[in-house]
Amino acid sequence: MDTDWMTRGKCRDMDPTVFFPNDGIGVQTAQRICADCPVKVVCLEYALTNRVDHGVWGGTSERERRRILRQRRLSKLAASRN
Ligand code: SF4
Repeated sequence: MDTDWMTRGKCRDMDPTVFFPNDGIGVQTAQRICADCPVKVVCLEYALTNRVDHGVWGGTSERERRRILRQRRLSKLAASRN
């Protein structure tokens, strides 16, 4: 998968630990940075495609990504039954 987009992320010159927080406040801090990142969508898709379990990617927490993946699986299942 193409990773050139990483060089355009708002986080490119930031401390990576900001995006691997230990608590909810840290998650919110990272999400505020991601909010207007120009590569937010591709960053999220990268994390979903590669099943990245840890950290904030594309403005989503680990829990939010698990929810998105679950919803996609259910949608796919429902579509296959129609
Ligand atoms: S969306 Fe967030 S984690 Fe992804 S590249 Fe942008 S700032 Fe970095």
